[in-house]
Amino acid sequence: MFRHKRNNRNSFSNHSWGTAIDLFFGTDVVPQGVRKTDRGCLLLVPFLNAKGYHWGGGFTGSSVDSMHFELSKETIEREIHS
Ligand SMILES: [Zn+2]
Repeated sequence: MFRHKRNNRNSFSNHSWGTAIDLFFGTDVVPQGVRKTDRGCLLLVPFLNAKGYHWGGGFTGSSVDSMHFELSKETIEREIHS
Protein backbone atom coordinates (compact mmCIF):
# COMPACT_ATOMS: atom_id res chain seq x y z
CA MET A 1 0.00 0.00 0.00
CA PHE A 2 1.34 3.43 -0.90
CA ARG A 3 1.82 5.73 2.01
CA HIS A 4 2.83 9.36 2.22
CA LYS A 5 5.58 10.33 4.61
CA ARG A 6 4.13 11.49 7.91
CA ASN A 7 6.06 14.76 7.79
CA ASN A 8 5.84 15.41 4.04
CA ARG A 9 2.55 14.80 2.21
CA ASN A 10 4.24 15.39 -1.16
CA SER A 11 6.59 12.45 -0.82
CA PHE A 12 5.98 8.71 -0.60
CA SER A 13 7.41 6.75 2.28
CA ASN A 14 9.98 4.04 1.61
CA HIS A 15 7.41 1.78 3.24
CA SER A 16 5.42 2.17 0.01
CA TRP A 17 8.06 0.19 -1.88
CA GLY A 18 8.65 -2.43 0.79
CA THR A 19 12.17 -1.19 1.42
CA ALA A 20 11.59 0.03 4.98
CA ILE A 21 10.38 -1.55 8.19
CA ASP A 22 9.28 -0.15 11.53
CA LEU A 23 10.07 -2.14 14.67
CA PHE A 24 9.32 -1.52 18.29
CA PHE A 25 9.63 -3.45 21.48
CA GLY A 26 7.64 -3.03 24.65
CA THR A 27 4.35 -1.23 24.91
CA ASP A 28 4.95 2.25 23.52
CA VAL A 29 6.15 3.49 20.15
CA VAL A 30 8.75 6.26 20.28
CA PRO A 31 7.25 8.98 18.07
CA GLN A 32 9.14 10.36 15.08
CA GLY A 33 11.12 13.45 16.03
CA VAL A 34 11.89 12.19 19.54
CA ARG A 35 15.55 11.40 20.17
CA LYS A 36 14.94 8.25 22.20
CA THR A 37 14.92 4.60 21.32
CA ASP A 38 14.07 1.33 22.91
CA ARG A 39 16.83 -1.12 23.70
CA GLY A 40 15.62 -3.72 21.18
CA CYS A 41 16.02 -1.35 18.22
CA LEU A 42 19.41 -0.22 19.48
CA LEU A 43 20.59 -3.83 19.72
CA LEU A 44 19.46 -4.53 16.13
CA VAL A 45 21.24 -1.53 14.58
CA PRO A 46 24.62 -3.23 13.96
CA PHE A 47 22.98 -6.34 12.50
CA LEU A 48 20.68 -4.43 10.15
CA ASN A 49 23.48 -2.02 9.20
CA ALA A 50 25.52 -5.06 8.16
CA LYS A 51 22.62 -6.07 5.88
CA GLY A 52 22.55 -2.64 4.23
CA TYR A 53 19.85 -0.86 6.23
CA HIS A 54 20.06 2.70 7.48
CA TRP A 55 18.63 3.34 10.93
CA GLY A 56 16.14 6.18 11.33
CA GLY A 57 17.62 6.87 14.75
CA GLY A 58 20.52 8.43 12.85
CA PHE A 59 18.28 10.86 10.96
CA THR A 60 18.43 14.50 11.98
CA GLY A 61 15.94 16.96 13.46
CA SER A 62 12.25 16.13 13.16
CA SER A 63 13.10 13.23 10.83
CA VAL A 64 14.73 11.18 13.59
CA ASP A 65 12.74 7.94 13.75
CA SER A 66 14.24 5.26 15.98
CA MET A 67 11.74 2.56 15.02
CA HIS A 68 12.52 2.97 11.31
CA PHE A 69 15.03 0.94 9.27
CA GLU A 70 15.33 1.36 5.51
CA LEU A 71 17.45 -0.28 2.86
CA SER A 72 20.16 2.01 1.56
CA LYS A 73 20.03 3.10 -2.08
CA GLU A 74 23.32 1.26 -2.62
CA THR A 75 21.86 -1.99 -1.25
CA ILE A 76 18.77 -1.73 -3.44
CA GLU A 77 20.82 -1.04 -6.57
CA ARG A 78 23.18 -3.94 -5.78
CA GLU A 79 20.22 -6.32 -5.33
CA ILE A 80 18.57 -5.13 -8.57
CA HIS A 81 21.74 -5.78 -10.58
CA SER A 82 22.69 -9.10 -8.97
ZN1 LIG B 1 9.20 3.79 9.15
